[in-house]
Amino acid sequence: MNQSNVKPVHVVFVAGKSGSVAVMKLSPDMWIPPIERKPAGVPKIVALGGDGIGPEVVEVTLRCIDALGVELEVARPIHGTDAVRELDNPLPDETKRTIDAADAVLFGAIDTSLGNAKAALLYLRFDLAMYANLRPVTSVDCIPSVIGGDNTNLVIVRELTEGMYPGREGQLSDLTAKWPEYRDRRGKELPKEGAFAIRVITPEAVKRLVKFGIRLAKHRKDKGYSRGHISIVHKANVLQTSDGLFAEICREHIEESGLSYDEIYVDEAARRLVAEPQDYDVIVTSNLFGDVLSDVASEVMGGMPMVPSAAIGDTGAYFEACHGSAPDIVGTGKANPAATILSGAMMLSYLGQTEAASRLIDATLGTIRSGTMTGDLGGSATTDSFADAVCGWLK
Ligand code: ATP
Repeated sequence: MNQSNVKPVHVVFVAGKSGSVAVMKLSPDMWIPPIERKPAGVPKIVALGGDGIGPEVVEVTLRCIDALGVELEVARPIHGTDAVRELDNPLPDETKRTIDAADAVLFGAIDTSLGNAKAALLYLRFDLAMYANLRPVTSVDCIPSVIGGDNTNLVIVRELTEGMYPGREGQLSDLTAKWPEYRDRRGKELPKEGAFAIRVITPEAVKRLVKFGIRLAKHRKDKGYSRGHISIVHKANVLQTSDGLFAEICREHIEESGLSYDEIYVDEAARRLVAEPQDYDVIVTSNLFGDVLSDVASEVMGGMPMVPSAAIGDTGAYFEACHGSAPDIVGTGKANPAATILSGAMMLSYLGQTEAASRLIDATLGTIRSGTMTGDLGGSATTDSFADAVCGWLK
């Protein structure tokens, strides 16, 4: 199909509990609320390709952003495998300083089995505390959903700094030696053989997360994008102390905000994501649950290669696709760059370039709508030809 015959208009169908359906244009601020902290002068961004297909999708995203005509200062500091090879350090201090001085980071992907690019991601998440991971899932008119209905417009707000992810694991023999009197809820001792993982929930981390979720839900409600409802997803029936704390803090803050909310156990939340994703607005949840639920929800918009994300902290933010490094397709040109391009749109929105962000979303979805798609969506476009087509929409 000739792209000039296709209008770059993309819609999201928004359904309320009442079942009424409104149709509206997809806008970046449905996914990320306006951030007060605007860069002074030309925004500085750092591009970190990371592992696998990461560098491929980041480079074409930068090309699309360039085609928008947005002025950005882009740094590509050494990191990951290259930095290990050249400097024997996956994240040199100079790279950290470049990241610290930037307004935002565009990240590719990490291969967890390699561990090289992981150092940069861990620095962003844990040292710079980019704690609110926004994972929007929105029905778009050009991609059929394989789960639920057509009218999904949700954002998963996943806590990104604690839970299981700091990797506090060890041998049970060491734990029982140090803490022999520990008993579980049934009064039982720990087994002597095997491994353990510690899942930590702190009031400070939950408070800042739920406050961010409230800000997003209020903004979406004020703009008429959704009804301003928060679903607190936890498993406090089993994890009574840790998720009990998570639920209690979320509940207190949301009640104060005046927004409506419900609480859903994570297993039921997953079922509902498949059966009725359109019933969700903003989901606030802990680290592991958010990770799993966002993979499930991605099927609303064609799978992981389509879902963007942002991780926002109080002093900075990074933007990356939800998918992994896809080691099986590196260098084949098969990588779909859409999720990274849409993450780039979230980054522009964060940098106060809302209009450019909106154009980038329109161009990406317009390209798919015109029939230019990568293999994962059933098309034959390559990473480069897809990006060329997006740039074509932007001319
Ligand atoms: P990781 O441990 O890095 O998260 P993973 O194998 O669990 O890796 P992905 O890297 O997301 O998860 O890959 C899962 C599957 O999806 C692979 O077959 C991969 O090729 C495919 N895939 C992931 N991202 C893309 C993409 N952007 N375009 C096309 N296919 C992709």
